Amino acid sequence: MHNRTEQKEKEMELTAMYDVCIIGCGVIGAAAAFELSKYQADILVLEKENDVAMGSSRANSAIIHAGYDPKPGTLMARLNVEGNAMAEQLCKDLSVPFERIGSLVLAFSEEEEETIRMLYDRGVKNGVPGLRIIDAKVIHEMEPEVSPNARMALYAPSAGIITPWDYTLAFAETAVRNGVKIQLNSPVIGIERLPEGGYCLKTPDTEYQARYVINAAGVHSDTIHEMVAEKTFTVHPNRGEYYVMDKAECFRANHVLFQCPNQDGKGVLVTPTMDHNLLVGPNAEGVEDGDRVNNTAAGMAFVRDKAGKSVPGINYRNAIRNFAGIRANTDKDEFQISIAAENFIDLAGIKSPGLSSAPAIALEAMKLLNECGFAPEKKANPITKRVKKRFRYMNDEERREAIKENPLYGRVICRCETVTEGEIIDAIRSPIPPCSVDGVKRRAGSGMGRCQGGFCGPRIVDILSRELGVNPMTITQDGAGSQLLLTETKQEVGE
Ligand SMILES: Cc1cc2nc3c(=O)[nH]c(=O)nc-3n(C[C@H](O)[C@H](O)[C@H](O)COP(=O)(O)OP(=O)(O)OC[C@H]3O[C@@H](n4cnc5c(N)ncnc54)[C@H](O)[C@@H]3O)c2cc1C
Repeated sequence: MHNRTEQKEKEMELTAMYDVCIIGCGVIGAAAAFELSKYQADILVLEKENDVAMGSSRANSAIIHAGYDPKPGTLMARLNVEGNAMAEQLCKDLSVPFERIGSLVLAFSEEEEETIRMLYDRGVKNGVPGLRIIDAKVIHEMEPEVSPNARMALYAPSAGIITPWDYTLAFAETAVRNGVKIQLNSPVIGIERLPEGGYCLKTPDTEYQARYVINAAGVHSDTIHEMVAEKTFTVHPNRGEYYVMDKAECFRANHVLFQCPNQDGKGVLVTPTMDHNLLVGPNAEGVEDGDRVNNTAAGMAFVRDKAGKSVPGINYRNAIRNFAGIRANTDKDEFQISIAAENFIDLAGIKSPGLSSAPAIALEAMKLLNECGFAPEKKANPITKRVKKRFRYMNDEERREAIKENPLYGRVICRCETVTEGEIIDAIRSPIPPCSVDGVKRRAGSGMGRCQGGFCGPRIVDILSRELGVNPMTITQDGAGSQLLLTETKQEVGE
């Protein structure tokens, strides 16, 4: 029965013609889907992984940059500043944790003081609001843990911190509620032009047709581009590794603390996160495989060494996790945003500040689609808001109310982060249901704390298997190859 339904769905896909197909559901594909979902159009998103936000969009510094770093006149400069300005209202509307805590770029030498002045001038040209150069005294008043060797800094009050996977999920979930179809586990492996116009997109299981295509495939966006057009850029995947520190270390930084940028990027930063941890990293290392996010001893040693220059007192015994993300760097110092072929748009090579620029890039995609002749009507009342309950941020009154409405809000599952069973079930029943323990973590915040899921992990496996109606043995940490339970060790009495 199940197979017959699947077969029928495949046959329907073969004949359906979507208006737009977006390849990739990182923050860029998701923001584009959200923007397009406000129009009367059939939109499909094809994502190769088992969840959204599985590429750079889940593993980065989580900064909404102010916009003084990109060269004036570039798309990166304009879209960064525009995206930063849009973030606050969007995060309010979509219930995404975001705070404009401001950033400091620290200078430790005369030469770096020159860089600070250059960045200030760039920022002013780029239209960054409120920039100020501050001296050592002000730095140490604002940041008592910063090294006494810091002598000057660029202060950018508009810089913010965000939960990047939740930004992506918020766009994607709202797009789905507006009718967008997101097909997970669907890598695009070939694209053919249709004789009557539009494209046929091939995945291992089925084929899809669309009049317009948006390439938002991150580190693989060059491969997708070359399926329809001449090579114009190459992605050079570049790994950045991090430490996540326990909340006990969060007092070390009140703002995002950058060092002066160099040829390898923005350098090692120290910053609080939205969950009140401290994030330290990243390094920058060219790698062959854009999907391999392993940490290395050398990378971590580099991060500790460089971070010590800004904040010497960090206690690495309080590290609770390491992770790595891959930048979609290209041979061009610019986002690759253009009409790459007839009715085919590249939102490609979106390196940093891609997270900051995402909503502005989505508007840019809309402009390019219009240029290609796609001008759908706006929907009368598209959904533009998302409500997300977070028990840990509620006051006592709100908690009592939440528990009265749903007693499962009174059952704490993740003790480190105070995440309740009610929130976990909300996550599992959300518009893009998670199928793994980490999928629940990205939505509900469980397992983010000091024990890293040691306590709540087995309970989440239980809840997932109960809610999804599957055997707990099939539940993974985060997709294929990460099975948590390998064999049954006990049997019920009487079996
Ligand atoms: C270490 C690091 C630090 C960073 N720090 C910041 C920061 O602080 N602030 C900031 O603004 N930016 C930052 N960035 C940049 C930011 O993370 C990216 O610009 C942004 O996440 C890019 O989003 P994306 O959607 O283009 O790519 P991704 O998030 O990688 O999404 C691409 C998606 O395409 C899918 N895909 C790939 N190939 C296929 C295929 N063939 N078929 C179907 N799907 C496919 C992938 O699975 C993936 O989900 C950082 C990046 C890194 C790596």
